[in-house]
Amino acid sequence: MDQNKTGKFIAGERKRKALTQKQLAEMLGISDKTVSKWERGGGFPEVSLLLPLCRELDITVNELLAGERVAEEDYKKKAEENMMNLVKEAQESRKKIILSALVAALAILAALPLVIVAGALEMETWLRCLLIGIGLVVVVLGIIIACVLDRDAGAFECPECHERFVPEMGAYIMGPHTITKRKLRCPKCGAVKYCRHVLTK
Ligand SMILES: [Zn+2]
Repeated sequence: MDQNKTGKFIAGERKRKALTQKQLAEMLGISDKTVSKWERGGGFPEVSLLLPLCRELDITVNELLAGERVAEEDYKKKAEENMMNLVKEAQESRKKIILSALVAALAILAALPLVIVAGALEMETWLRCLLIGIGLVVVVLGIIIACVLDRDAGAFECPECHERFVPEMGAYIMGPHTITKRKLRCPKCGAVKYCRHVLTK
């Protein structure tokens, strides 16, 4: 540890925050003479003041000890944060896609008995129509909910320019598709291609 370097660093960061020695001292509940002493390299903040001091100056203890901004540390933290967000987004997307498939399957399972009963049993024509109608409504609703969930999960990637986008509902529903790809118009390059469904935007 270099007291002079840390002292200059504290002074620099304090000025960056537009604080006087007195103001910083008051925030920490100490005298301005103590702050002045640190900044002249005449002493190091005691352990109990390290965290409060760093909080007021918006620096890490690491940086205080090093007496300078640690860019790499920032970068790493930032990178980790970004990665965590990506992982979270991918998990959310995966959940939505699974839920979407479940909803569609459940809707079909729920409607099937209705249609079978309507077809197999003796009954009035209006009742038969009603049962089949209800079955159809359940299936259509299920598929709509499944589509909303699936479209909203992650994004689609253009195979030409690799732009990732969420398509309009209309384009999404009308697009021919496989399990993992859907034919869509890329909003960036205009290509109409089978775009891969990816988990992150
Ligand atoms: Zn494109």
